[in-house]
Amino acid sequence: MSWRLLKTGPCQADPKLLRAEVALDRAYTRLLPLLNAVIPGALYDPDIPSLVFNFEGALVSILPEEIKLAQVKDEETLSRAMEYLLRTIAYVESQRDKITPRETRGYEVSTVEIIRLLPGPIKGRYCRACGYPSCMAFAAKLSQRAERLSRCRPLFEEETFDERCRNLTALLKEAGYDSCL
Ligand code: SF4
Repeated sequence: MSWRLLKTGPCQADPKLLRAEVALDRAYTRLLPLLNAVIPGALYDPDIPSLVFNFEGALVSILPEEIKLAQVKDEETLSRAMEYLLRTIAYVESQRDKITPRETRGYEVSTVEIIRLLPGPIKGRYCRACGYPSCMAFAAKLSQRAERLSRCRPLFEEETFDERCRNLTALLKEAGYDSCL
């Protein structure tokens, strides 16, 4: 299997980043439940059908007609993302008898749902231990599956937040954010 770049340009949300559309040289949608079983934190929608996952901060959407990439850092990252996808497709094809397809639909946890369980709003200030200027900025990245919850250290280190930590971890697990924990 090989890939071909159809279109590329600056991302609408952040013009410093790239977006791209890519075609593969043969059909792949039947493999989506297998890819959903092996790509950590993938978001599967059987109705379209589509699968979305995060690769080095880029959002990769596998759609029936093409593959769309957004928020890609540069062309090298685009190539690495596609190489990863082709490698993973080859892997699931070769191991299909041993992999249980995952038909479960993942879903997106919103920034608002995340932020209401982070410590900042309770503390009344943003400590920035996560490297972001606010809980909102961190929650937005986590919602896109582009961050790990563990970067919010106060959530794990301060006893006051034990219950929030449990609830947020459970919420993310249920939505299929395993790779973000
Ligand atoms: S480390 Fe946690 S509490 Fe501090 S700013 Fe980041 S998300 Fe908010």
